[in-house]
Amino acid sequence: MSAAAANHSALLPESLREDFPILNGDVLEGQPLVFFDNAASTQRPRQVIDAIRRVYEHDYANVHRGIHTLSERSTELYEQAREKVRGLINAEKRHEVIFTQGTTASINLVARSWGDANLQPGEEILTTVMEHHSNLVPWLQAAERTGAVLRHVPLTEDGRLDMHQFDNLLNERTQLVAVASVSNTLGTINPIDEITAKAHAAGALVLVDAAQSVPHMPTDVQKSDADFLAFSGHKMLGPSGVGILYGKENLLDAMPPFLGGGSMIGEVHLDRFTPAELPAKFEAGTPPIVPAIAMSAAIDYLQAIGIEAIHRHEQVLTGLAFEALSQIDGLRILGPAPEHRTGLISFVFERIHAHEFAQVLNDRFGVAVRAGHHCTQPLHTLLGISASTRASFYLYNTPAEIDRLLEGIAAVQAMFAPKGRRRRKSGK
Ligand code: PLP
Repeated sequence: MSAAAANHSALLPESLREDFPILNGDVLEGQPLVFFDNAASTQRPRQVIDAIRRVYEHDYANVHRGIHTLSERSTELYEQAREKVRGLINAEKRHEVIFTQGTTASINLVARSWGDANLQPGEEILTTVMEHHSNLVPWLQAAERTGAVLRHVPLTEDGRLDMHQFDNLLNERTQLVAVASVSNTLGTINPIDEITAKAHAAGALVLVDAAQSVPHMPTDVQKSDADFLAFSGHKMLGPSGVGILYGKENLLDAMPPFLGGGSMIGEVHLDRFTPAELPAKFEAGTPPIVPAIAMSAAIDYLQAIGIEAIHRHEQVLTGLAFEALSQIDGLRILGPAPEHRTGLISFVFERIHAHEFAQVLNDRFGVAVRAGHHCTQPLHTLLGISASTRASFYLYNTPAEIDRLLEGIAAVQAMFAPKGRRRRKSGK
C-alpha cells in the first residue's frame, strides 16, 4: 500500500480511536486489537458509555409513568432521543419513530401488524436473494400465516440487484417490497430511490432494512420515500437492545398494535381496550430507556464527525482492501466493485475454511473478522459456498489495520497452502 494512499485526505483522524476504550485496552494480552467485525456490532466511544452511566447515576426511572422528578427527567431524555433519531433520518414527524429492540424486532413488527392485517392469499411480497435472515424469515412466516407468496429479486454476475428482473417481478399482486439498502454480505448499495419509485408506481409499499446503511451513509426517508425503515443502535456506536422502526404516519395509524400490555393503550376494560396514539401504540411495556438515550449520544458523536465523512473514510479503506485482496491468489471477493459497496468485504479461499481462517487471524494477528454465512444462508447457497470471511470497517479503522489483515492472510495462506504453491501472486 503506498504512503500516498494511506495518507488519503478523506481519512478521518486516527486520534478519534482514543475515544474507544476497548480499542486501547488489553483484549488480546499485549497484541493490538484490529476490530473488523463492525457489520455485526460496533464498539462504543467513551461519550456513549458515559451517557449510560450518567442516566443510571442521575436520571433513571421508568418513562411515561410517574409524575416525580426522575420519571419526568428520564421521559424527557427518552423523547429527546426520539427527536434525535427523527433528525438523523429526516422523518417528517417525531411519532413516526418507534423504539424497538433492533432491526429484527422492527421488521417482525411490520410483518405481524401490517402483514397480518393486509396480506391476502396469492398476493406477493417481493424481497431479494441477498437479504439478511431478519428480512426473510419474518416474511416467510407472514406468507405461511396469510397465504401470500414470496418472490426474490436475483443478482447480477457482480452481486448487485438485477433491476431488470426486479421490473419483471413487480406486478399488481405485489403488496410490499422488502429490501436491504446495503447487503451485509456483499456490501452492495441497493438503489432504494429507484426501488421505491417503481414500487409505488405499481401500488406496493417498501420496507427498507437499513441496518447496514444508517450507520454508514446519510439517510433521508422523505427523499427516498421509504414507507418503513428499520435499523439497530448497536451497529452505530450505540448500545445493544435498541433499534428503530420508522413508518409513515398514515400507515402506522392504520396498523393494529403488535404487542399488547402497558403503555400501548388508551383505555382498558375487562372485555376490551383501545390502543394509544403513536408512537406509544407500538411501544408496549417498559421500552429500552437507557439504550435509547445512549443511542442519542451515539448519534451526536456520529453527527459531530459527519456521516458523509464516515462514508468517505470507509470508501478509502474499502478501496485499499479491495485492491490488495483482489491480487491474492486463490481468494475470491464476493460482491461488486468498491464504488457500488460500503465498507465491508466478504471473501472465500480455495482450500481454507472461513472458520479456520478467522481463528488464525484472531489468535495470531489480533484481527477480528466474521466467519460463517452472516445470516445470509440462501445467498451463500446461491453462490455455491457454505461460509465466507467478512472484514467490515468503521470510522476508527485505519490503513495500517488493513495491512495487518493482509499480513495475516499471507501467513494463513502459507500455513494451509500445499508445498510448491506457497507464494503470493504479484500480478493484477
Ligand atoms: N439486517 C441486516 C442487513 C443486518 O446486517 C442485521 C445484523 O447483522 C440485521 C438485519 C439484524 O439486526 P439486529 O440483530 O440488530 O436485529
